[in-house]
Amino acid sequence: NGAMFNKLTAMPADPILGLLTKYREDDHSQKVDLGVGVYKDESGHTPILSCVKKAEKFRLETESTKVYIGPTGSADFNRLMSELAFGAVHPAIIANRIRTVSTPGGTGALRVAADFIKRCNPNAVIWVSDPTWANHTGLFEAAGITVKTYPYYDYETKSLKFDEMKAALANVSSDDVVLLHACCHNPSGMDLSVPQWDEIITLTADKGFTPLIDMAYQGFGDGVDEDAYGVRKMAAAVNDMILCSSCSKNFGLYRERIGACTIIAKDATRADIAFSVLLYVIRCIYSMPPAHGAAIVETILGSDELKQEWLDELTVMRERINGNRTMLVNKLKEKGVQRNFDFIAQQKGMFSFLGITAAQVAELQEHYSVYMVDSSRISIAGIGTGNVDYLAESIAKVIS
Ligand code: PLP
Repeated sequence: NGAMFNKLTAMPADPILGLLTKYREDDHSQKVDLGVGVYKDESGHTPILSCVKKAEKFRLETESTKVYIGPTGSADFNRLMSELAFGAVHPAIIANRIRTVSTPGGTGALRVAADFIKRCNPNAVIWVSDPTWANHTGLFEAAGITVKTYPYYDYETKSLKFDEMKAALANVSSDDVVLLHACCHNPSGMDLSVPQWDEIITLTADKGFTPLIDMAYQGFGDGVDEDAYGVRKMAAAVNDMILCSSCSKNFGLYRERIGACTIIAKDATRADIAFSVLLYVIRCIYSMPPAHGAAIVETILGSDELKQEWLDELTVMRERINGNRTMLVNKLKEKGVQRNFDFIAQQKGMFSFLGITAAQVAELQEHYSVYMVDSSRISIAGIGTGNVDYLAESIAKVIS
């Protein structure tokens, strides 16, 4: 025995976790963490939302069993999540062609979707944006799906390679899947505008490939409804679609692992068939999702009062992030930086690429204790009124 594990070679450590360890060990009094992608308040803390605390208290008092919940998870959570994503009166909901399941986080939703796609088409290719969230590639490859990229972010002009994106998607086979980010594109912060969504949706309907929309930041861009524009319009325009949602960021439920996977089919009969396959896939991965996060979310979304409180708390998070973007841009100007960083204020969500070299990223870390990943992707929530001055000054020195 021992022959099997002996064949292993170590996998590289996760770069973001490595960065976090280094940051924690750094004793510089003005150190700045722009690595990890979680929301932080002005004091650098990731708080539990007040609506979440209230919902948890309510659940603690009223929960009466811990019996198995079943592979779909909670029916109320699933209904409320699909209404949040699509709006309560969406034609696809009215036509009963939407099926939603609770999943362990957005990552769980994506993995369920990946295995589902593999069952739909064992030779499927999934097209992801260049660049995309690093985990997308590993996750789909782990399900045996080939991953290819379409052009997306232009690092030179800090804008969308929209014509190239359309040209690439125009050649995607109708047997394949195209992954789109609903909003707050990770890692670029560069979203499709409304007219660009309209064009991509028309193209998707024309070409016949299946869209998979990953919505990990609903409410972090422009608002809950605004951020779902593409999701809603796409669902009305195509027969088949997959949506993977996460409650990690917008409900601050990171460690509870709660998200949702939604399948939309041509009609109710096909939706039922697709759903049976989805349930089979779930049974073969984790059998049933955890219940606590879903219980919190359904308590919030099912109560007018708690839902309003959540929307208010979400607005605070969104406005802080958007405010940080403008604050950094203004501060860089104030420090006399000639280079144009206005794009940071125009992009959306948790991330943007600063657009500096890997050597400059390393210098920021070594000499100024400013931490970000090598690509110069910065986590906007790590900025605050307390560190923006030092941060802008450090960036100014490194790029001058
Ligand atoms: N999709 C994208 C684009 C993300 O950025 C993330 C998390 O960072 C996820 C999915 C997964 O989120 P979760 O923590 O809910 O698994």
